[in-house]
Amino acid sequence: MAPEGDDTFYVLSPVPHLGHDNGVNWATEAEPYRQKMLKMLEERLLPGLSSRVTESLVFTPETFRDVYLSPFGAGFSMEPRILQSAWFRPHNISEELPGLYLAGAGTHPGAGVPGVIGTAEVLATLVPDAPPRRAVPADFPMAAE
Ligand SMILES: Cc1cc2nc3c(=O)[nH]c(=O)nc-3n(C[C@H](O)[C@H](O)[C@H](O)COP(=O)(O)OP(=O)(O)OC[C@H]3O[C@@H](n4cnc5c(N)ncnc54)[C@H](O)[C@@H]3O)c2cc1C
Repeated sequence: MAPEGDDTFYVLSPVPHLGHDNGVNWATEAEPYRQKMLKMLEERLLPGLSSRVTESLVFTPETFRDVYLSPFGAGFSMEPRILQSAWFRPHNISEELPGLYLAGAGTHPGAGVPGVIGTAEVLATLVPDAPPRRAVPADFPMAAE
């Protein structure tokens, strides 16, 4: 996305979700928080960073709530505390509704693109009436890699 000679860079800073009335007013807090992150990075890791930033885009939990419909604006679905991680996450075959199958970051095994793709692949073998998985055609670009 960056113009020729420039680069993109992002910072992921965990913050509280919007549940439990945690009181963060992102309309007023987002910019000071961004500045704080920039200052910290500049002091500890990337001297001169702020003078080189030409465009900046900040996502807050409100962005995750409003744009991605994520409950409480969580960026990673359910918090991966020990009792909500791996096997303890909702299983891929629903135990509550027969015929309901779940895939994605909020289910077993958890967040992250490899895990999410893995969960979908496993699920494709578990759903009883899913069509058989097709082999990747030899001329498909990724097959050669
Ligand atoms: C800032 C950030 C950085 C990350 N970095 C990495 C990384 O470097 N490597 C990595 O492996 N993983 C990373 N992850 C995690 C990874 O992005 C997620 O685990 C993964 O995208 C989850 O995939 P998913 O399909 O379960 O959900 P999502 O990708 O969130 O897709 C769910 C989709 O459903 C849509 N949706 C929600 N409700 C409805 C509705 N009612 N109707 C229709 N559509 C709806 C949403 O808008 C969204 O498009 C990162 C996540 C974040 C937030």
